[in-house]
Amino acid sequence: MGLFQPGWMSRDEQKATRALEKVTDDDTLFRIASECPHLSVQIKAAQKIRNTDRRLDAALTKRLLNYEVRMAALEGASEEGLSLVARTAASSDIRLEAVRRMKDEGCLAEVVEATAGGNRDDQRICEAAYEKMNHPPFECSMRVRNRKTDANLLYDLKGMSYPDDREKLMRIIMEKDGKCTEAAVRMLAYEQEREVLRKLAVNGKRNARLAAIEALRLPADRDIIDVILSNPESDLVLKKYAARLLPNEDPMLDQLCCPFCGSFGSIYHHGGYDGAADMYYSAYKCRVCGHEIRKHSVTGTAETKDFSVSLRDLCGKPGKE
Ligand SMILES: [Zn+2]
Repeated sequence: MGLFQPGWMSRDEQKATRALEKVTDDDTLFRIASECPHLSVQIKAAQKIRNTDRRLDAALTKRLLNYEVRMAALEGASEEGLSLVARTAASSDIRLEAVRRMKDEGCLAEVVEATAGGNRDDQRICEAAYEKMNHPPFECSMRVRNRKTDANLLYDLKGMSYPDDREKLMRIIMEKDGKCTEAAVRMLAYEQEREVLRKLAVNGKRNARLAAIEALRLPADRDIIDVILSNPESDLVLKKYAARLLPNEDPMLDQLCCPFCGSFGSIYHHGGYDGAADMYYSAYKCRVCGHEIRKHSVTGTAETKDFSVSLRDLCGKPGKE
């Protein structure tokens, strides 16, 4: 075998370099790029491959090729070639490098579509490609979870209208949970979408719920407001949104509630002897969220104040006339 060993396989780097200089055939250059024992010669060979598709094979191959050889293979690659490497190459570093070199938004979108929802490497590539796009298509923003998707979808929403784009609006509402979700809910027309808004107010994702509650109308949707206000699972912000819809003279606004969780009538007084402190205490406590204000005294005469507030104060509504 040694007899027929080509010069570029020589252990002497200079000899191998000289041998490379004489080679012009792409297939042989590819072999040198992947098999030569000297990194510098491998890189030069990759650079010398004339057909850019053949050169890309060095970036795409599953063989254990040095990163720098793969980098050299990306030189002069077309956007389509780079997209192919970004989607399918075995090494994630070279996939990322291909994305960095890409400019064409259509090809970048192709990479996003192909890698969204994939394994961890795919996710990295997907994010990088999405970040590079100035105006990602709607589909890309829907498939990617990224800090920029919310802003991009808000931008897309400006070009949409109800009812023409109802399907897209509903997808944002059901699948996303950001500012774009709120904006999409606000675009639904109450008359046509009343049932949808009522359902979203109770079961939607967080931002959809807030916007849907705002869209409800009283007295027609009073039942939903009551459900939200009386459910201990609803948090303070949801309750504030719901309470703000109540008419100013509504007696519910004067009910006392816990300022920390918004529950009605949940605060009770208790007291007694606190062994740990060796003192008597008097306290008010919310039986729903557990918030407690306790005051100690040696004689047991300390009085704590009930910290409950009216729903009106809680949601910042003005007092009755
Ligand atoms: Zn509470």
